Amino acid sequence: MEARTFLNKNEKLLGQKAFVIWLTGLSGSGKSTIGCIINQKLYNLGYISYVLDGDKLRNSICKDLGFSQKDRETNLERAAQVAKILTEAGIIVIATFITPFRSSRDYIKNLLGKDKYIEVFVKCTIEECIRRDPKCLYKKALNSEINDFTGISSPYEEPISPDITIDTNIVKPYDSAGLVIEYLANNNLINLAGKNG
Ligand code: ADP
Repeated sequence: MEARTFLNKNEKLLGQKAFVIWLTGLSGSGKSTIGCIINQKLYNLGYISYVLDGDKLRNSICKDLGFSQKDRETNLERAAQVAKILTEAGIIVIATFITPFRSSRDYIKNLLGKDKYIEVFVKCTIEECIRRDPKCLYKKALNSEINDFTGISSPYEEPISPDITIDTNIVKPYDSAGLVIEYLANNNLINLAGKNG
């Protein structure tokens, strides 16, 4: 990633570069868990970030949408627009959405600009996601109580060249978040000595 200069006055005022860490992966792969830890780690370093959570949006500005391909695309377009607004406000965004289609991820990358979009593939086998089943959704999907469920009755297109891939079958949540923080530091997006370090 190219080194970035400050773009707007909010970034200058906050003393941080604003960008979007987009976590994509199957339901239960660990996006929200890892996203929250990244958020906390950034906070500890003095950075203002915000977890833009798929479930939260689905219960608010996207509650009119279902899970057809068209509705998923609309859901993600709205999410990407919100993420863009937040970066314009100078905030680092941690977006946790399944984002199953490559076309949606391409759209988001184009909208945000490639220097502001960091794609993190939260990789986990479907068997392990079914075993975890934190929201009991797989159980329902396997019983056909939910349609168009990613990994069961709707496809997940794996990222081709994500910036970071984390295999959560192996890597623990705290270490996964650490890998993202390390990537941000190595790409001069944050300073590990703290914002004012
Ligand atoms: P998603 O946001 O991708 O749907 P969640 O973060 O909500 O996934 O749920 C993942 C679940 O799996 C959590 O209950 C978490 O504690 C558990 N888990 C077990 N091992 C891991 C791991 N290595 N990384 C992330 N989550 C894990």
